[in-house]
Amino acid sequence: MSSIKTHTFDAVIVGAGGAGLMAALYASKGAKVAVLSKLYPTRSHTGAAQGGISAALGNLEEDRWEWHAYDTVKGSDYLADQDAVDILCQEAIETVIELEHMGLPFDRLPNGKISQRRFGGHTNNETGKPVMRACHAADRTGHMILQTLYQQCIKNEVTFFDEFHVVDLIRVDNTVRGVIAIEIATGEFHIFHSKAVLFATGGWGRCWEVTSNAHSLTGDGAVVCLRRGIPLEDMEFFQFHPTGIYKLGILITEGVRGEGGVLLNDKGERFMERYAPTIKDLASRDVVSRAIYLEIKAGRGIGGKNYVHLDVTPETVNKYLAEAGETRRIDRAYIEAKLPDIADFTRTYLGVDPVKEPMPVQPTAHYAMGGIPTNVDGCVVIDANNTVLPGLYAAGEVACVSVHGANRLGTNSLVDLVVFGRRAGRHMAEYCQGADLLPLPEGAADEVVAEFERIRNNKGGVKPYELRKRMQHTMTENVGVFRTEETLSTALTELRELRQAYQDVEIDDKGKRFNTDLLEAWELGCLLEIAEVTAVSALARKESRGGHARDDFPKRNDEEWLKHTLCHKEGDSYRLDYKPVVIGRYQPKERVY
Ligand SMILES: Cc1cc2nc3c(=O)[nH]c(=O)nc-3n(C[C@H](O)[C@H](O)[C@H](O)COP(=O)(O)OP(=O)(O)OC[C@H]3O[C@@H](n4cnc5c(N)ncnc54)[C@H](O)[C@@H]3O)c2cc1C
Repeated sequence: MSSIKTHTFDAVIVGAGGAGLMAALYASKGAKVAVLSKLYPTRSHTGAAQGGISAALGNLEEDRWEWHAYDTVKGSDYLADQDAVDILCQEAIETVIELEHMGLPFDRLPNGKISQRRFGGHTNNETGKPVMRACHAADRTGHMILQTLYQQCIKNEVTFFDEFHVVDLIRVDNTVRGVIAIEIATGEFHIFHSKAVLFATGGWGRCWEVTSNAHSLTGDGAVVCLRRGIPLEDMEFFQFHPTGIYKLGILITEGVRGEGGVLLNDKGERFMERYAPTIKDLASRDVVSRAIYLEIKAGRGIGGKNYVHLDVTPETVNKYLAEAGETRRIDRAYIEAKLPDIADFTRTYLGVDPVKEPMPVQPTAHYAMGGIPTNVDGCVVIDANNTVLPGLYAAGEVACVSVHGANRLGTNSLVDLVVFGRRAGRHMAEYCQGADLLPLPEGAADEVVAEFERIRNNKGGVKPYELRKRMQHTMTENVGVFRTEETLSTALTELRELRQAYQDVEIDDKGKRFNTDLLEAWELGCLLEIAEVTAVSALARKESRGGHARDDFPKRNDEEWLKHTLCHKEGDSYRLDYKPVVIGRYQPKERVY
């Protein structure tokens, strides 16, 4: 250990997306903070977020935070913790204004206020009609958030360790003492010794074949915690976004439907009218993804293939706007202004001009509702009694507060990042002021260093990319939009075989500098573990709720399953436990859109 460089900070934040940066900004007001990121900060996936961030500002029409809260709880299929949802929706308003004051260039209305648009599942609770709640900067909202927060962190003198890949958490009994990271440029291990650690490492869409997620989203933070005895919550709930570009998975924002775009099947039918008569194409994502899947299964995919059309051409949109009795009309210039990146993606990747023709889309693995369990201050909780592990925090997509329950509403992730990132950062600063820096244990890095040497020198002949392909295939086939006992059991058998095969993974690059071969092999280990936890949690939950649709148990079952799953790793196996859902003003009822 003596040869390993050690750095000391009050607080270490792992991840430089929206959640990590917001937490860093607030923690840095009272503590000495380091942010470690395997990517250059502004390359984090938050920068890919397109459509918007919701807050009930009511800039265009009446809106209330309570309506936002109700929509979030309903969208979650009643699995969200309602105390946390209230905080999310109330604080969304001041946080968005705070971002505006930091300089975030939101689109604006002629009166100077922030522009807002419709998004799936966001409604006026009195009429049930869609409401304009999503604040946006064209279709680059996440990019603007990330740039703004990064600038603020630099201004606040947060120390950044860019391209440092965190591979272990130092936990001694119920205390945390820091993390172990590899400096990607040199291959050297570093110890970051601290009083507090926050994980904001994002999601794990890379478990599936077709995903909107960046290559880097491999669930590292969640797995590092899992391996150090922290359970993962509600992992069976993974969101499939209805509109990924056919075969590629690249996301077409729900903002397209928010602006009036519609989904059409092979017969040219606006099929969402049948599945969600009131808000149609703007039903929650789980509902729309299942509808697309069922249309395809019934042979109504375009040309019998497994995709449908997303049509935002002015001709089609204006036809449906007129039918709905709306006076608003759109034209080419409007689409180019409101959805410039989307237009660019489809022209570049598909040769399809969305102003003139419909886009081929299919559901794409998008968002992890589950993750590291936390309370509303971002403190990680480790059991069904919500016992806090002092000094350990999580925020953003990797965390499970839980405000998204079984299904997240569009635009609610960006709010989650900034609202709970801020709360976690604040709490960390306070915690660090009262806490001592506990000594590092002997050989803190030994275990993980040995694991990396094993992977580097392994001669087993198994190629990581082959395992990754098999994992992604079985997750898509068997742990996708619909699941059954049979498909989930098949997935588990295959994933266990893959876990065995992983022991024989052999990489080509044996060097130290920029050894992405080695790091990707390690990331594959994380993906395999996350995939297994997802399948184990899904097999046990014998009901359908939100993003977890069981063909063999098609109904939601509140009597037995209105509870959060906790998956603990014990040796080589997993143990499930459950904890109650916090119910508030909204008693569970059937969801109708
Ligand atoms: C294409 C797309 C569009 C989206 N659009 C919207 C939208 O319009 N509205 C909305 O609300 N949500 C949207 N989402 C969801 C939302 O963007 C994400 O859930 C959110 O940005 C996640 O932010 P985060 O801060 O948790 O993590 P990320 O932004 O994913 O950042 C993760 C960070 O962790 C770091 N990291 C990971 N592992 C390690 C490691 N081992 N060591 C060191 N660092 C590590 C990475 O370097 C990175 O800095 C979209 C998502 C996608 C993929």
